[in-house]
Amino acid sequence: MAATKHIERKIKGIPASQGISIGKAVVLRAEAFVSSVEHIEPEEIPNEISRFYAALESSATELKHIIEIAEKEAINVAPILETYLLILTDQTAADSIKRRIQQGYYSAEIAVVQEFDAQKQFFKLAKDPILRERAVELDHVKDRLLDGLRNRSITHSVAAKSIVVSPSITPTDLMMFNKAGALAFITEVGGIASHASILARSLSIPAVIGVRDAAQLIHTDDTLIIDGNAGLIICNPKPETLAKYEKRKLDEEENRRKLGKLATAKAETHDGHAIHLLANIDSLEDVDAARINGADGIGLVRSEYLIIQRQHFPTEEEQFEWYQQLAERMYPHPVTIRAFDVGSDKYAEGLPHEDNPALGMRGIRFLLHRKDIFKSQIKAVLRASQHRNIRLMLPMIATTEELQQSLELINKCKRQLRRSNTPFDDTMPVGIMIETPAAAIMAIDFANLADFFSIGTNDLTQYTLASDRTNEFVAHIFDPFHPAVLRLMKIAIDAAKARNIPVGICGEMAGHSAATELLIGLGVDELSVTPPLLLELKKRIRKSDYLKSQILAALAIRSDSSNDVRKIIAKERKR
Ligand code: PEP
Ligand code: MG
Repeated sequence: MAATKHIERKIKGIPASQGISIGKAVVLRAEAFVSSVEHIEPEEIPNEISRFYAALESSATELKHIIEIAEKEAINVAPILETYLLILTDQTAADSIKRRIQQGYYSAEIAVVQEFDAQKQFFKLAKDPILRERAVELDHVKDRLLDGLRNRSITHSVAAKSIVVSPSITPTDLMMFNKAGALAFITEVGGIASHASILARSLSIPAVIGVRDAAQLIHTDDTLIIDGNAGLIICNPKPETLAKYEKRKLDEEENRRKLGKLATAKAETHDGHAIHLLANIDSLEDVDAARINGADGIGLVRSEYLIIQRQHFPTEEEQFEWYQQLAERMYPHPVTIRAFDVGSDKYAEGLPHEDNPALGMRGIRFLLHRKDIFKSQIKAVLRASQHRNIRLMLPMIATTEELQQSLELINKCKRQLRRSNTPFDDTMPVGIMIETPAAAIMAIDFANLADFFSIGTNDLTQYTLASDRTNEFVAHIFDPFHPAVLRLMKIAIDAAKARNIPVGICGEMAGHSAATELLIGLGVDELSVTPPLLLELKKRIRKSDYLKSQILAALAIRSDSSNDVRKIIAKERKR
């Protein structure tokens, strides 16, 4: 073991809380539960029962104390800890433990383990990942009680300036380790929706979870780099790796400083109208940029980049891994994965030559023609949806049949996943892009079937004005500020409002410096732009006035030319 101690090793886990940390490891090993006695003598029963109640009381007192600290530090975690307190002080469970001691002649430790394990079994088998997390919570409460019975308490100060490596970690310990100055956390178990992960994020402590055998692979005093954005741990890094991550850490800090309060400021007009600010991304690295720049989620993943990078269609497994990483890195914020929009100016091997590809086999048309490819993507997206932060979006929809057929296919994929007991989010929203005039005009019919709309102004402009988005000769005609485009957008937005589904914009217009008030005034709920534009856009949103924007939008859609629309915007800005 000593020979490998100083060899750089990369260990992969699940990114649970972003940020980079560099420091020495403190490894906490799970103490195997060894009870010296399983059964007790009848005369020991009263003593065993009072040991149990004493442990219950001391654990509850400790928990209440930690809840007080959480409340004082204004961290929104007190409700999590209160759940623990509820589990701990549940009268039925306490009665059942008492009965096990009295009737089974079990020691308090064994009775506690039996009771909690029986409850845990029920949750462990649940299909819903959130319910399965409850099993982990029960374990935490059980361990707390067992610690109480053994009069053991963890010395949290060992974590000062260190990276804590532990088989699992309770939110209460996480709070205490944080107070003692821990730099980051690595655990063997846990889900990104677990309370410990939520807490790590809310305390802004980097955390990587689900690292198998972490407490065996890592030794106390090993130097560790933890990259909470990528879920990566580098153990005993080479000097050049260390230098690289030290620079990245400084860059991150510098970035955070520069952006100041804006990254965490709300995206709302100064009269209080909130807009969901989302990011358009093509790669995993873009997720970090989106987060650093304060995105509330991902409004468009151009999944066809997976094909462009590989020059072939990725397998279901390859896609699943990628989508899962997207979902985990962005959790708990939503990630909108657009089904492959191949064709036209986007590569697709094996597509026939078309004289007029923009009006040909692209987007949903291609997917419904190649159902094998579509199904593998749907399944990969569904499998990655189990943490409930994925939305699926269909491109280039022009007819209701296309949407109906897609929904049928999605249901078929769900049935197949159910049969193989594969977990997924049964309520995963399925939305459409509004990028053909047909979809905009018939938006009310689509709104009856879809869970959300996202307006693709790039294509909506191209198809409304019959102006190829890639042809410089007609670039002067291609203008999303054209009233025809605006009126179509308005139809779609009103339909979404009428059916109470969210509507956003993910085309380039969303980030256009002249468009912000106009789009807010038209009534969009979401704006999705490339990460580098997020903060500028947020600044403009915060400067806007919702009421004035509505008046501006009403005037703009009544204009008869793009020039007029621009004049109205300029006039409004001067006021
Ligand atoms: C759009 O058409 O506006 C859009 C966002 O999709 P893409 O640019 O990928 O066609
Ligand atoms: Mg498009």
